[in-house]
Amino acid sequence: MIHRKLLKVLRVPPGSKVDLDDFDPGLDIHPELRAIDKDDLKALASEKLRENVAELAEAQELLYASDTYSLLIVLQAMDAAGKDGTIKHVMSGVNPQACQVFAFKKPSDEELDHNFLWRYMRALPERGRIGIFNRSYYEDVLVVKVHPELLDRQKLPPGKRDKAFWEKRYDDINRFERHLVRNGTVILKFFLNVSKGEQKRRFLERLENPEKHWKFSAADLAERDHWDQYRRAFEDCFTATSTKWAPWHIIPADYKWAARALVSGVISRAIQDLDLRFPELTPERKKALAQARRKLAAE
Ligand code: AMP
Ligand code: MG
Repeated sequence: MIHRKLLKVLRVPPGSKVDLDDFDPGLDIHPELRAIDKDDLKALASEKLRENVAELAEAQELLYASDTYSLLIVLQAMDAAGKDGTIKHVMSGVNPQACQVFAFKKPSDEELDHNFLWRYMRALPERGRIGIFNRSYYEDVLVVKVHPELLDRQKLPPGKRDKAFWEKRYDDINRFERHLVRNGTVILKFFLNVSKGEQKRRFLERLENPEKHWKFSAADLAERDHWDQYRRAFEDCFTATSTKWAPWHIIPADYKWAARALVSGVISRAIQDLDLRFPELTPERKKALAQARRKLAAE
């Protein structure tokens, strides 16, 4: 099945050096896709999204019932890549009680008074829950690396902000994630890979369509000027932090329908791979249930 094969090629193999030129933001991500007409592919993708959303809803109930694992989904991307829409569609079948979304903006003064992982730690999902980070601690090796003057606000001990400094941040992140995984958090990281041309088209739409004006921010346009620096920062980041325990997935994002089908596929598969079962009843609990049944029947 082509969907399965695609899910495999999206994953960044740990230890590999990432060159984003090797990852098409469009549909050219697998030779078998070339033979399929785009409209057919779109129909297939929306069918797959429906299936994945239903599977995810079921898997999530088991996750909640077994109360052992949590799932952390990290989303990173350039502006207008479709993070918000992906969250909305992919999580549309999930019980809101067992799910939480945090969107991280520029850190506050209080947050800057702590280590860079602090604010993210406080937002982690507890066992049984799915937590989504719309932006994450990765901003601290992405936007902050592209704009190193942001480090001045972080009140760090003196030292060079050189290559070794960033390597240590990657190392901090890898160890932090290792700790979480060892303690029952499943971590899935997604980069929504939008092309520069498609970003321009989406920005223009935000400028031209009154219902989308609110989504436009001049700051986004300023970040676009740093496109190449961001790409390098993303490449270095994926090279250093795609690990066996917390792999990155590079998702082609020029077609929203493709991105949503693929992200939902990876998440649904990951929960199913945990092979969870509803908790077994202890003999005492079985007895208590039988008693309750008898009591109600006798009313
Ligand atoms: P948005 O997600 O479009 O609302 O924008 C949030 C903004 O906050 C983006 O420009 C991010 O780059 C910025 N941001 C998020 N986390 C950090 C961080 N740790 N340090 C500096 N800026 C950040
Ligand atoms: Mg924005």
